[in-house]
Amino acid sequence: MKNMRQKQLIKKAHGSYGGLLFSSEWKEKRKTIITRDQNKCRVCKSSKELQVHHRQYRYSLVLRKFKKPWEYPNRLLVTLCKKCHQQGHNKYKVPIKYI
Ligand SMILES: [Zn+2]
Ligand SMILES: [Zn+2]
Repeated sequence: MKNMRQKQLIKKAHGSYGGLLFSSEWKEKRKTIITRDQNKCRVCKSSKELQVHHRQYRYSLVLRKFKKPWEYPNRLLVTLCKKCHQQGHNKYKVPIKYI
């Protein structure tokens, strides 16, 4: 049960990005991060199905919304393959920083 609730929370956080992950700003940022990580998953070194993961979400209390996915410093973004990314999200909850 605990796992399911966590999954829903993650879905919510990711879902708040909506279609933003398809925007050109994100595509650019994503490319920057994956290139920095030498086109490899940081965990298993695979180069298949790479995704960029946020180590932290930032919520602006003033604007009452989450930061846009590309508005994060590069150090908070890591390249992961699809498999490690899913495993990571199942194991850990991404911390939310209120700013
Ligand atoms: Zn991996
Ligand atoms: Zn992620």
